[in-house]
Amino acid sequence: MNAVDDKTVVREYFNATGFDRWRRIYGTEEVNKVQLDIRKGHQQTVDRVLAWLQADGNLQGLSICDAGCGVGSLSIPLGQAGAMVYGSDISEKMVAEAYQRAKTLFGPSNTISFAAQDLESLSGRYHTVICLDVLIHYPQDKAAEMIGHLCSLAQERVILSFAPKTVALSALKKVGELFPGPSKTTRAYQHREADIVAILAKNGFAIARQEMTSTRFYYSRLLEAIRR
Ligand code: SAM
Repeated sequence: MNAVDDKTVVREYFNATGFDRWRRIYGTEEVNKVQLDIRKGHQQTVDRVLAWLQADGNLQGLSICDAGCGVGSLSIPLGQAGAMVYGSDISEKMVAEAYQRAKTLFGPSNTISFAAQDLESLSGRYHTVICLDVLIHYPQDKAAEMIGHLCSLAQERVILSFAPKTVALSALKKVGELFPGPSKTTRAYQHREADIVAILAKNGFAIARQEMTSTRFYYSRLLEAIRR
């Protein structure tokens, strides 16, 4: 499957069964054990980013691009904290849910705006560009282009998370592929940390903070990179 097909599949998935699945995982309603584990792991990633940004003490008015924002799990608390957030997602349904959640929580917002837009078509400049758990939809040969584009939008900082490619995780994925269950949906791509760091460096960014979140079913390496 080429990258264009991948992207169409991803968009269609997150506008249909994927929307239902991830809206629930990134929500509060009852879910199965695996989904609950993923929910908790993902929340740890979100909380870590919020903690980093809050520790810097300059969130008020900071311009942030949340590329592939999903249902707004990060955009919404960032907007609540006073950042100027531009959240976008390739899936109209995900971004509509993000808009609704924000509106339910605090009415029409003047700190967050949401748009259905794939990240390749994003333009403008933001102090910080964040892209959480989206690289899993990008094959290795497309990651450099995608990260390069995000770097071009960032004045100061890029924050990325991805499923790291390690021997243990590759083995786990192989086992998963042998037993595809009903929830098996889009392809999941892992990335070598060294590759991601090298791509960031090529674009003029150096790693400042990092974190690894691993629960039973959720693995995410989080990197903050600062423009040199
Ligand atoms: N970043 C969000 C979070 O952490 O809560 C959502 C993560 S979810 C696993 C992945 C999201 O990436 C989905 O909402 C999907 O629609 C979006 N996505 C995938 N490919 C994309 C692309 N090329 N441009 C924009 N969004 C994309």
